[in-house]
Amino acid sequence: MTLNIAIIGAGPAGYYAAEAALKHWGGTARIDIIDRLPTPYGLIRAGVAPDHQSIKAVTRRYEATNLGANVRFVGNVLVGRDVSVAELLGLYDAVVLSVGAPHDKPIGIPGDDLPGVIGSAAFVGWYNGHPDFADLQVPLSHHGAAIIGNGNVAIDCARILAKTVPELAVSDIAQHAVDALSHSAIRDIHIIGRRGPHQASFTTKEAGELGHLERAHPIVRPGDLPPLEADAALEPGHRKMVTHLRGFAQAERGDKPGTINFEFFRRPVAVEGAKGGGGKAERLIVETTRLEDGKAVGTGELHAIPCGLVIACIGYRTGTIDGVPYAPELGRFPCDDNGRIFPGLYASGWARRGPSGTIGTNRPDGFAIVDAIASDIGVGKGGDAGAGLDALLASRGVGVTDFAHWQRIDAAEIAGARPGAPREKLVRVADMLAVTGA
Ligand code: NAP
Repeated sequence: MTLNIAIIGAGPAGYYAAEAALKHWGGTARIDIIDRLPTPYGLIRAGVAPDHQSIKAVTRRYEATNLGANVRFVGNVLVGRDVSVAELLGLYDAVVLSVGAPHDKPIGIPGDDLPGVIGSAAFVGWYNGHPDFADLQVPLSHHGAAIIGNGNVAIDCARILAKTVPELAVSDIAQHAVDALSHSAIRDIHIIGRRGPHQASFTTKEAGELGHLERAHPIVRPGDLPPLEADAALEPGHRKMVTHLRGFAQAERGDKPGTINFEFFRRPVAVEGAKGGGGKAERLIVETTRLEDGKAVGTGELHAIPCGLVIACIGYRTGTIDGVPYAPELGRFPCDDNGRIFPGLYASGWARRGPSGTIGTNRPDGFAIVDAIASDIGVGKGGDAGAGLDALLASRGVGVTDFAHWQRIDAAEIAGARPGAPREKLVRVADMLAVTGA
């Protein structure tokens, strides 16, 4: 009997779920990986920093999965609009939601709606050529930028803002972002952490890279660092990251014109605009904090950080889908430890556990899902679910893209690359569809 599985979301979590299903059921599983974009690979394409190409090499593994006889890529299909989850549950034995967490968590402070305040999903999507953010206006004319959050996304955003055009040009950053950044006036970047260096969730490589930028110099206030002997209690990887921060605290500034200032023990309290400045963000007000039981507590001491751009890198939320339970307090779908929302419907990756971990962290999720599916659905209901989906989408006039279409987009992007760059991303869905001929 054939087992039919629909995976929604062609990012890492989706591909690892497909891989695990193939390992478990071999040729008896037929898998459709459905994505709202005509292109696969989710966060690898539009989230991983464009200057971190080695991480993107994992797409070759996903490509191998997709080239297998039993796996289809069904692109340009928005579940919830073009087809409902209830319809998919009627066709397939199992539906796996691997839709990630694409929405920015709100900062929730006065002024966070002023022009100039954006979330990292938008900013990262913009420089990575995600079609949703092709028209984002990123204000780059002020000398200051504030980046809220002490995770790797904050470091990615700071690095992209700090790099020179030659440093950026050899990546697959979207051309519109290179064009805008080539006129950027940003000189002083502030990374705001509400807690301290020991509590930051930067990883070693990402923190260390900030010490090797052409025109910006990382600065850590020595007084923000705990006594050296306190590092002994840290996990070794984290200790190395903190060692980079200690190095930044001691380094000579040299003649680099820009700064990346680690503002530890500062929590954002308001964004203020200039009077008569058209309401645009002009400064971020932060309050000095101290740690109490590991939590940041405000001291009442306020500082103003001059900036025309505020990027909130404070986490993400999964979106809602009609017919799927949602836990607003978690910002994702409620599910058990194996990703089961209810028998037949599952969540994996960030949609299951929230926005944390590396790309590889999604791999065990795939195996957990498959265990849950296997214990829930037995031999399945059989039939050709893919043909049922195709008929439904055709009746609604949905222009689906398949993996061969993606390969044409891929080839066009590689052919159109700037010298030294791996590809030039197409950033409009219409341009992608034109290349595919779909
Ligand atoms: P993250 O590591 O969870 O960092 C989020 C940061 O936001 C934390 O410092 C948190 O502070 C802070 N924060 C949350 N709410 C806040 C608020 N209201 N005000 C001020 N600060 C607030 O998440 P992320 O940077 O978004 O990254 C998501 C995941 O992707 C992580 O696992 C990350 O490692 C991974 N990632 C990896 C790479 C890479 O490997 N190169 C690149 C990008 C992302 P508290 O700690 O005080 O809560």
